[in-house]
Amino acid sequence: MISTRPFAHPDARSPLFCDGVSLDTLTKNYGTPLYVYSENQILHRLRLFAGAFESIPHLVCYSVKANSALAILKLLDKNGAGFDIVSGGELERILRVNKASAQRVVFSGVGKTAAEIDLALRSGILIFNIESAGELDLLAERASKLRKRARIALRVNPDVFAETHPYISTGLREHKFGVDIRQARAVYKSAAKQKYLDSSGVSVHIGSQIRSADPFGAAAERIAQLVRELRADGLPIQSVDVGGGLGIEYHSEHSFNPEDKIQQYALALLRKLRPIENLRLLLEPGRFIVAQAGALLTRVLYVKKNGEKTFVVTDAAMNDLIRPALYQAHHDIVPVVRSKGARKKVVDVVGPVCESGDFFARDRGLPELKPGDLVAILDAGAYGLSLSSNYNSRPRPAEVLVDGKRARLIRRRETMDDLLAPEQI
Ligand code: PLP
Repeated sequence: MISTRPFAHPDARSPLFCDGVSLDTLTKNYGTPLYVYSENQILHRLRLFAGAFESIPHLVCYSVKANSALAILKLLDKNGAGFDIVSGGELERILRVNKASAQRVVFSGVGKTAAEIDLALRSGILIFNIESAGELDLLAERASKLRKRARIALRVNPDVFAETHPYISTGLREHKFGVDIRQARAVYKSAAKQKYLDSSGVSVHIGSQIRSADPFGAAAERIAQLVRELRADGLPIQSVDVGGGLGIEYHSEHSFNPEDKIQQYALALLRKLRPIENLRLLLEPGRFIVAQAGALLTRVLYVKKNGEKTFVVTDAAMNDLIRPALYQAHHDIVPVVRSKGARKKVVDVVGPVCESGDFFARDRGLPELKPGDLVAILDAGAYGLSLSSNYNSRPRPAEVLVDGKRARLIRRRETMDDLLAPEQI
């Protein structure tokens, strides 16, 4: 059985490993900060989805925004996944990996431009998730101009409370996403008048890092009702895209069983959607697939005291992993090499960026750390590098993908030349 986390100490005296690879050794080869991902864990999570939904025709469209490394996209592509994209740039990534996979792409996002729509039409993507009447008009215009048919699903806003951080909750009427479910039929009616548009689906995405299955069930119930109404209106609705959003547990002291989680999630959705005949489910998981497969390795630069507080300053910062600063998100932090008898100390783990919000942990009890020590920030595989920036002119970290006992560099560390290339004096 594959454990929830691929990062573990094989025995009391060894350093932290990712599957069969010592992280201590890895940083000697590739330096820090360094993102490390486990191929086995990513595939395991993908297979959990396939297993949980085997009773219904479905396609898992991995949400590229969670981690858009080409090597990870290729791994998922080879294993049958489709993709959920939100920009022309993400589509370019899929095309780079495998042009033929465009037919397994769903295109979400509230602000698609004409150029992005054209690229998607020419590439022959599976379906457009339309987020407004204005976008529908633009797609109709571009499709007729290019003489390309487009399958569409309206992303509806079901007004369901997602029980997550307000920044990653998307399914309430007050949010910018989707179209109010009460207006959906009218929008589909106007879509039906467009020669090049085929209304073939309905889509929804209520938010991210949602740990209870209940909000998914509530959204599915409303979507099921809408599908029945649309079919009664004569529209050949064939697919429901239930979005992503299934959460993970970031605190290792809380128990978390991904197999159970996915079963509960599938049950909540299928209870409402399986009774509808001839329906294909599209799923857009991101975090659940990649978050726990990844860690950010960073080295301690300094340990300093200010007043009562002790700060552990690392060489990674909020520009490399912004989740704690942006959402006050928790990430477990563990020393890569355990020093015998190290006492626990309460510290803040912070980066070198000039913002007080640049922290990875606050008032956290950790084994005493000293300059030069290596720590792993766990569960950093999703919304880590993909949300990173060059703030403070900091080159982004390298990325390594581990396959059993083998590790390979999938993104080299950025250089200052990379950062300065687009600029002119
Ligand atoms: N689909 C859409 C439209 C999204 O906006 C997101 C992210 O918020 C996802 C899928 C993936 O969500 P998650 O990573 O929580 O599964």
